[in-house]
Amino acid sequence: MRHLILGSGPAGIAAAKAARKMEKDAEVVIVTEEFAAPYLRPNLPDVISGEKDPSALPDPQGKDLAAAGIEVKSGKRARRVDAGRNRILFSDGSEETYNFLCVATGGKPILPLGLTGSFGAFLSLNSLSDALRIKARALRSDVSVVYGPGYLGLEAARALRKLGQQVIWVNPGLPRFGNPISGELEAKATEKLRNNGVTIKEGTDIADVLDLDGQTYIVYTTGGEEIRCQMIVVATERLPAVHFLEGSGVKVGSGILVDEYLLTNVSNVFAAGDCAEVFDINRRESRINFGWRSAMKQGQLAGENMAGGGKLYIRNTEDYFGLLYGSPLLERSL
Ligand SMILES: Cc1cc2nc3c(=O)[nH]c(=O)nc-3n(C[C@H](O)[C@H](O)[C@H](O)COP(=O)(O)OP(=O)(O)OC[C@H]3O[C@@H](n4cnc5c(N)ncnc54)[C@H](O)[C@@H]3O)c2cc1C
Repeated sequence: MRHLILGSGPAGIAAAKAARKMEKDAEVVIVTEEFAAPYLRPNLPDVISGEKDPSALPDPQGKDLAAAGIEVKSGKRARRVDAGRNRILFSDGSEETYNFLCVATGGKPILPLGLTGSFGAFLSLNSLSDALRIKARALRSDVSVVYGPGYLGLEAARALRKLGQQVIWVNPGLPRFGNPISGELEAKATEKLRNNGVTIKEGTDIADVLDLDGQTYIVYTTGGEEIRCQMIVVATERLPAVHFLEGSGVKVGSGILVDEYLLTNVSNVFAAGDCAEVFDINRRESRINFGWRSAMKQGQLAGENMAGGGKLYIRNTEDYFGLLYGSPLLERSL
């Protein structure tokens, strides 16, 4: 029996551990595009701000995987799932087969239209390498533009301000994907940023960016403003990373559609975490339940079910983004 888990975030690791616990003799393999050992993604803003050293970031859940008999294959990005032949093809030309698959690929930032022609002019905030790049760049910047609605924009602006940057937060306030935090909480946190010197441009978008000399940029907003800066950080919400499922037969809506057992329409393919659109049996609707704890819970359940657990997923609001990993949002320092 070979259980393959795609993605080394909290959902993927929890799935692997649960499958291992249920089936002592099975082969359990995590394949991930990341080169870094599993880390605490919610602490990335603290790495930027200097409140946490990268050495404090390893995910405790990801410790001792080898000792538990879980193999991790790093630096491999899934390109295509061939569900008919139970295999995944990777961008390095290799392939992996499985008896049961759990897709736990999380999400990727949504790039604003105004930046699509300006590769190289901005840095996204999603991974550990992103956070280290942003921090390094901040050392030779004075003015940073943060782009993004919602929670991640807020956290990026907080972290850069804490680092001593002059921060201009372009918050387009677009309709949310997933609506992770309540409007009231967001308004309070935004006010706190404003009081601490962050300039906030609400309800405006980035229309274009001009790279003056590889070090200085002019951001043109849809409101007609020009902002000169040395760094643009894209901290948007994350869309489920599911493009490699195209043509696989696995059904995808906003995320990978799974039933209350986290099973897709393909009988040996499960999905968990930020990439999964989960059926809520109480509300009779499918939704993505973003967040670290939610991903862990779903991953564990999917792992058990890959090994025949037959466990039902019941969503409760505490699993959702409302209960943030780490300290409460309003208590985060500035
Ligand atoms: C900056 C930041 C701050 C956050 N802060 C908080 C917070 O305070 N509280 C909170 O609850 N949540 C927070 N989140 C959200 C939280 O990190 C996610 O909800 C959680 O990580 C989801 O877990 P996951 O396992 O589903 O996906 P992820 O953690 O995204 O892991 C997915 C994994 O799959 C890999 N992958 C993706 N595509 C492929 C592919 N094609 N092939 C191979 N591997 C692939 C990725 O590289 C990654 O390793 C934050 C997110 C970010 C970016």
